[in-house]
Order: sequence, then structure tokens, then C-alpha cells
Amino acid sequence: MDRNARIYVAGHRGLVGSAIVRNLQRAGYTNLILRTHADVDLTDERAVRELFEQERPEYVFLAAAKVGGIVANNSFPAEFIRDNLAIQTNVIHAAHLAQVQRLLFLGSSCIYPKLAPQPMKEKDLLTGPLEPTNRPYALAKIAGIEMCWSYNRQYGTKYLAAMPTNLYGPGDNYHPTNSHVIPALLRKFHEAKLAGAQEVTVWGTGTPRREFLYSDDMADACVFLMNLPDDRYQALLGSDESQTGKFEPPLVNIGVGEDVTIAELAELVRQTVGFEGRIVYDTSKPDGTPRKLMDVGVLNSAGWRAGTTLVAGLGSAYKDFLDVDDRRNE
Ligand code: GDP
Repeated sequence: MDRNARIYVAGHRGLVGSAIVRNLQRAGYTNLILRTHADVDLTDERAVRELFEQERPEYVFLAAAKVGGIVANNSFPAEFIRDNLAIQTNVIHAAHLAQVQRLLFLGSSCIYPKLAPQPMKEKDLLTGPLEPTNRPYALAKIAGIEMCWSYNRQYGTKYLAAMPTNLYGPGDNYHPTNSHVIPALLRKFHEAKLAGAQEVTVWGTGTPRREFLYSDDMADACVFLMNLPDDRYQALLGSDESQTGKFEPPLVNIGVGEDVTIAELAELVRQTVGFEGRIVYDTSKPDGTPRKLMDVGVLNSAGWRAGTTLVAGLGSAYKDFLDVDDRRNE
């Protein structure tokens, strides 16, 4: 991408989109196209087409989606499938009409089967039943991957799907019950420290394993992919199934390739925050899946590796939490 290329980041206020915007701005890209939900409703086909006709983006990061934790997914399944199908259908089709050069479609690791072998490889897509709690979201994202693949086949577009592992970082959701484990623990340990409490309660047994990627690293990987030379980018677009009979969708995992136990994570958060009390486990709370780890061999072979350690990332995330907390208390 030239530094003055027209780059549309859809969903620039979210954890993923905001990290991509920070990365692009830091790298000196000047021509970013950013629209809030109030400016353009991406579920509205006409509004999306008009945006693309007016702005003629050359590159698109499709990070706009309806997202949420298990509670939100369970409460609003119809919205999760409808909004995500609508957003991605409108943006992908408008991108094709506007002759966008490259498009990166973002999703998450829950597209893989619930019982996929660990670590999960790109080729594990569609090999088994999904986790039921987020199936509407996951199926919409799988449809989006298929759509990228179909457009590439029929129209010669260059659309790539990138699925990040669990992310954390600035702009995260620090809600006490609806958030994911890292923001939840940052908040719990922080509040326990302020209150002078003796202990912090962590859900489950502490034995599940999870992989965590710092959102700025994820953004770095996305921009890296977008900037790959043609031959290396093309290699990630998979193959034309109708010609080769092989199942190789245009899909790449973005992750660290390593995981930690929740107990190890809790200890790191305790140290990051500087809480001196004990950690206790509430085993009446669910552990969830025992392990969720991405195979990042494809991305590593393309030349990218995560650069932020979990310790460093947690330090930055805690700083962000403190800023947000300060603003809340102002
Ligand atoms: P998951 O990766 O989809 O299971 O999502 P979460 O990030 O919500 O949870 C990851 C793991 O952290 C699970 O085993 C949880 O039981 C555990 N966990 C421990 N304490 C907490 C907490 O305070 N909040 C959340 N969300 N998870 C916690």
C-alpha cells in the first residue's frame, strides 16, 4: 500500500479496527477512510454502496461486526447472524463493484469446530460441529470466508480472511461480568488492590489453556498481510477448489502459537497490577473449553511473528485500563 493509498477501515472504533488505525497512522498512511455507525449503517446496502462510490477505497480492512461474549451471543442470536451476514455481504459486494485491490476480512477463532484438534489449523474449518453458544456468529463468519473465496474465483478479486485468536489491548471491554478473562482480571485485581482485599476470585479451576494476542500485534499482522508482495499474498488466497478439488480457502490464522493456563495468567495479572493477596478459584463457574490454540505456521512462513510478550502486553493493557478508569471517575 502506498502511504497515500485510500484505505477504508470498517469498524474503526472496535478493539480490532482501532488497533489497525493506530498502526496505519503510526506508519504514516494519510488517506484513511473512517465512518462511525452513525455516519454509515453497514447493514444498509445502499448506504454502503454510496460510501464506496464516493470514497473509492483501494484497500479494505473489514473489522466491523456485531461481537460480544457468551451472554450477548445467547441473548441476541438473531441479531448476531443477521447483522454480521448483512455487514459482510454489503461490504464485500461493494468492494467488488468499486474494484478494491485487496480486502482483509476479520473474524475469530470460534469459526473452528468445538472439538478441533489443537493447535487449530486453517484446514480444520468445517470439519465438525461448532460450539453452540456462538454458532450464529461463527456461521456468519464462515459464510464471509466462503464469500471471499467465491468472489476470488468468479471475479478474480483478492480477498483474504484473517482469523485472530483471543485478543486483548487498548479499548477493551472492562465490564465486570460480560468481558473476557484478561480485562475482567485486570479490573478484579485492580479493585482488590484499591480495597486492600486479601483475595481475588478467579472463575473455574485455573487449568484451561488459552492463547492471547495483543491487539497491536494483531494489527501489525493485518497490515503486514495487506502489504505482502503479490506472489506471497496470492499464495495465501488458497486454491480454486473447483479446479484442484483441494479444500484451501483464503484463510490465515493470526495468533501467537503459544498458550498459558488461566492460573498462570492470573498470576501474571496479579504481578502486573501489584496485588499482594491470594488467588482463589470459584469452581462453580464454568471452565469452558479446555484448550483453544491456533496453529500459526502459515502466518509464520509468510514472515510474521508476534512481537509482544504476554507480560509486556498486560502492562500496556493495564495502563489503558487505568486511563479508562480515570476518565470514568472524572
Ligand atoms: P473463552 O475463551 O471463550 O472461554 O472466554 P473467557 O475469556 O470468558 O474465559 C476464558 C477462561 O477464563 C475460562 O476458563 C473462564 O472460566 C476463565 N476465567 C477466570 N476468571 C474469569 C473472569 O473473571 N471473567 C472471565 N470472562 N473469565 C474468567
